[in-house]
Amino acid sequence: MNRSAPLSFLLAFLLAAAPAGSQGLPDLGDASSASLSDSQERTIGNRIMREVRVDPLYIDDPDVLDYINSIGDRLLAGLEGPPRKDIDFFVVQDESINAFALVGGHIGVHTGLFTLTQNESELAGVLAHEIAHITQKHQARAMHGQRGANLTSLAALAIAILASRGSGSQSGQVTEAAIAGATAFQIQNMIDYTREHEREADRVGLTILERTGFAPRAMATFFERLLRNNRLNEFKGAPSYLRTHPLTTERIADIQDRVQNLPPRLVADTFDYRLVKAKLRANMGSPSEAVTYFRALLDEKTVLRPREESYGLAIALRRTRDFEGAWKALEPLRKQQPPQAAFELLAGQLLADQGKKDQALDVYRAALRPLPNARGLVHAYLTLLLTSGRPAEVITDLEERLRNVQDDAQLYEIQARAYAATGKQLSQHRAQAEAHYRRGNLGAAVEQLEQAVKIKSTDFYETSSAESRLRELRAQLEIEKAAEKALKIS
Ligand SMILES: [Zn+2]
Repeated sequence: MNRSAPLSFLLAFLLAAAPAGSQGLPDLGDASSASLSDSQERTIGNRIMREVRVDPLYIDDPDVLDYINSIGDRLLAGLEGPPRKDIDFFVVQDESINAFALVGGHIGVHTGLFTLTQNESELAGVLAHEIAHITQKHQARAMHGQRGANLTSLAALAIAILASRGSGSQSGQVTEAAIAGATAFQIQNMIDYTREHEREADRVGLTILERTGFAPRAMATFFERLLRNNRLNEFKGAPSYLRTHPLTTERIADIQDRVQNLPPRLVADTFDYRLVKAKLRANMGSPSEAVTYFRALLDEKTVLRPREESYGLAIALRRTRDFEGAWKALEPLRKQQPPQAAFELLAGQLLADQGKKDQALDVYRAALRPLPNARGLVHAYLTLLLTSGRPAEVITDLEERLRNVQDDAQLYEIQARAYAATGKQLSQHRAQAEAHYRRGNLGAAVEQLEQAVKIKSTDFYETSSAESRLRELRAQLEIEKAAEKALKIS
C-alpha cells in the first residue's frame, strides 16, 4: 500500500457511492427530493474538504490551484441558469488516473490524469463531465439505490479513516482493513448501475464544452485513448477512473455520434495549461526519471523547443539539486517579454537554493512590479524575506496587501509567522485564526482566538477585535456542529 492510497481511496470510495443505483428510478425530481438537501450535501462536502486540504497530497501550489479553478470557472460559465459559485476544483498528487466529484461540489483531478491529457480541451472534457455529475444531482439520485449504506455513513467512515491516519502505528491496519471492505463494496455496487449517469454526464459535458469554446471532440479522443490503453495495460492505475466512470465502446460511440454534426474546432491551448502540466509532470516520479523524461522530449526537437518543456526540465533538474543545470535550462526562457510569473518564481527559487538570497529578492521584486497579483511570486517573496530575518518588512507589506486580497489562507499563515518572529503573540494567533478560517477549519480558528484573548495586551483595540471575531466564529461553529451532528458525521 503506497503513501497515496488513503486519499485516493477516500475519493474513489465517495465516488463509488455517488453514481450508483439509478435502476427503477422514475425521475430526477422525485429522486432528489427524497434524498440529501443541498445544504446537507454542502455540510458533508465541507467536512471532507477540511481533511483533504491538509492532506500532503492536496496540491496547495497557487499556480496549480489558480489554473484549475480558472479553467473550471470558464466551464461553469457554460451552464444554463445563474452562475454557480459553489463548485470548486483542486489537484491531487497521485499518479493513478482519476478524476472525481465529491458531494457538495468539489471536483478533484489526479496529476496522473492531468498529465495524460494531450491538450487543454481533453482536460476540459474530463472536468465538464464531472461538473455534469454535480449539476445533474447524480449523487443525490444515487441515494435511492443504496440499501444499508448511505452517503452520510460512507462520508463518516471516510472521515474516520482519514482522521486515523498519522496518529500511531495501528492506524495503518485500520485503514487497510477498511480499504479491503470498500473495494468489495465498490465492485458489488458499481458495474451495471451507472451507465445512465455516465451517458447523461457525457451529454451535458459536451454541451458545456461546445458553449465555452473548447473542442467537444477532445472528450471522445481522451476517453478512447484511456480505454484503449487500459486494454493494453499501459497505464498503471487507469482502472480507478474506469471503475468509477464505467467506460464502454458504446459510450464512446455515443459521444462520437453527438460530436459528428459539430464543425471541427481547432482550439489552441493556453500557455498556463502547458506550464502547469509541465510542472506537474516534472514533480512526478523520481527526480532523475523526470529529468530523463524532459531530456528525451527536448532531444526530439532541434529547431523549435517548446518553452514549457525547458521549464519542466529546469524543475526536474532542481529536484536533483543540479541548480546550475536548471539555471541554464531556464535562462533562455526569461529573455522573452512580457515576463512569466512561473519562470521568475523558479529563477528566484534557484538563487535562494544557492544561498543568493538578496539576488532572489531582487528577482521577485522586479517580477512583482508588472505582476503584482501572481500569488506564487508573492508567497515566495514574503517567505524569503521572513527567512532572511526581515519579519517587519513582511508585516508592512501584508498590511497593505490584505486590504485587497482576503481569501488567501497562505498570506495569513505567512503573517502569523512574521508576528511570531517579532514576538507579537496576540496578532500571531489572530492571523493564524484567519488562515484556519479560510481553509474551512472553524474549530481550529476558534481555538486560536481563544488563545489570543487570553494574552494580556495594552492594545485595547486589538483585544476587542479578537473578542468580537471569537464570538462571530463561535456562532458559526455552533451552526456547523449542529448540522454535522444531524448528519452523524461529526
Ligand atoms: Zn462519470
